[in-house]
Amino acid sequence: MNTASSKRKEFIVSLSLVLIFLIIICASILIKNKGTNGPNEPNGPTDDPELGWQGEIYGSESMTDIPEVVFAKDYETKYSSDYSLKIENTDYAYAYLSKTMIVEKGATYKMSAMVKYQGYDPKPLYGPDGNTGADLYAIAQYNYTNTYSGSEWKKIEYTFMPKLEMFGDAETMEITLYLSNGNSEVNCRGTAWFSDIQIEKAELANRWNILFLNFTSIDVTVDYNGNPNYRHTNYVKNIELLEESVAAQKEVPALLEELSGGLMTVNTYDIVVIDDPITRMTGFRGLEPIDIEEVLDRYLAQDEYHQIVVIYPADGPAFGHNYEATGTGAYVSYKGHNIGFAQVNIIGFSGNRMLYVHEILHGVEGRAGASIKSHTASLHDPGVYGYAPENSEYAVGQNEYDWYQGFLRNTLPDGRGMPPEVYMVPTGVYQVISDDMTRTP
Ligand SMILES: [Zn+2]
Repeated sequence: MNTASSKRKEFIVSLSLVLIFLIIICASILIKNKGTNGPNEPNGPTDDPELGWQGEIYGSESMTDIPEVVFAKDYETKYSSDYSLKIENTDYAYAYLSKTMIVEKGATYKMSAMVKYQGYDPKPLYGPDGNTGADLYAIAQYNYTNTYSGSEWKKIEYTFMPKLEMFGDAETMEITLYLSNGNSEVNCRGTAWFSDIQIEKAELANRWNILFLNFTSIDVTVDYNGNPNYRHTNYVKNIELLEESVAAQKEVPALLEELSGGLMTVNTYDIVVIDDPITRMTGFRGLEPIDIEEVLDRYLAQDEYHQIVVIYPADGPAFGHNYEATGTGAYVSYKGHNIGFAQVNIIGFSGNRMLYVHEILHGVEGRAGASIKSHTASLHDPGVYGYAPENSEYAVGQNEYDWYQGFLRNTLPDGRGMPPEVYMVPTGVYQVISDDMTRTP
């Protein structure tokens, strides 16, 4: 059946995710500029050499009223270190401790800490909701997906790859690490402790681990037709549909290797069928990773997955389409993991292996843009490069095949295909660079 390409409809979820990411970054930069240029410098022992980290505070009320925050070493409340670093927001604030480190070109790092929180009291600045607490991040990748505000010690991690093009000709550069309490979208009161702070460097290889999560039903409440509480339930109507979908998924690893000419290989792929329904769908006509948090966390704890593909049945007017199958794909930062996140909505037909490949390639494309270089070709550019009519975003049949080959192998005449570094992903083996930043030397 060769109708799927023409019948496929893509929504702009991948784009909207990127935009949200950019908006968050812009908001952070704005607030930081206000803070540093305003009449009041951040208060607190911001340059206490004893601390080894630099503290900064941003408040929500006004620029002349910087909230009180205490930065300190705490020798009592700690995990296994000699002390913890404490950020105590006695008022609603976004406060952080920062420190610089030298990173190598092309390397991927993981920062982790044992974290604990007390007295969590959030105040969203830009909307009704928002979550914050203790968080870790580096460079300008403010993503706030890794926050923790629980009272038990918990390890939180943040993986980052400084963007290759930022190095220019240099082999190393300096970046900044952050431990934060609150963020620029949601201020909070309460105390965050960071203990056992560690930096590791990831071993990289072009071997991907892919997880296919096949949900057989959904039961979600979405905003539809003026009704913010529209309940939509659906399930895979027959077993053949599921079988046909799984059969297509099984062909995807070999197809990715073939199309990329071996630049991208698949180490493992797991195909899982989940009978508990999806109960939240907060994306634009689709899922956000957080909507399937429980399942995702369970699998991400088991293996170093680089690509997640979620399959579910969601036809009906609330999803606004009359196609046999639809999909979206993006590259996301989820709780400190940088992963491709694709979703395929199976409705009447699900056996199109190229649909799965296509959505996965959006993750590859996003990874290139985030960690290698800007201005690569878009997956929807076959019309630009002559693989489809000029205005078409999709190639069909053999042209689709050829287009993905050129795109993945970087054989496009202008060199704007995927850079080969994009295929290098963490294998799950890490080398410790700094074993504990909260231990007395
Ligand atoms: Zn697409």
